[in-house]
Amino acid sequence: MQTHSQSIRATLSVILATLLLSHTACKKEAGLAALETDANGFLCLKCGAKFYTERTVFMGSKCPQCKQDALTQTVGYYCDKDQHLTIRAAEGDRQGATCEKCQAHLVNAMKSPSEKDYKAWGATKVKG
Ligand SMILES: [Zn+2]
Ligand SMILES: [Zn+2]
Repeated sequence: MQTHSQSIRATLSVILATLLLSHTACKKEAGLAALETDANGFLCLKCGAKFYTERTVFMGSKCPQCKQDALTQTVGYYCDKDQHLTIRAAEGDRQGATCEKCQAHLVNAMKSPSEKDYKAWGATKVKG
C-alpha cells in the first residue's frame, strides 16, 4: 500500500509542476502578443486587394472583393536604412524580402505591422 500512495504523490507533484509551468508560459505569451501588433493584414493574391482587421478579428481565405479563395495574411519587413516597412503576403517568405524603397535584402527584419502601417499601405479596414 505504501508504494501505491507514493506513486499517487509522485503523479500529483508532476501535475502540479506541469500546471505551474503552463501558467508561466501563458503569461509570457500574453505579454508577447500585446507587444506584437494591434492589427492583422490581408492581401489577395488574385486581385491585389488589401485589407486589415483588428487584432482579434481574422478574415477567412475568401476575398471580399473578387470572391476568390486567395486571401493571405501579411507580414512586414522593416528596413533600418530608410525606416520603411515593406508589407507582403506571408506565403513563401522564408528567404526574407526586398525593401520596396531601396531594394535592400531584408533578412531577420520581420516586424508585425500595426494599424498605422496598414493604413499607410493602403489597406481597407474590415469589421469582424
Ligand atoms: Zn481578391
Ligand atoms: Zn530600404
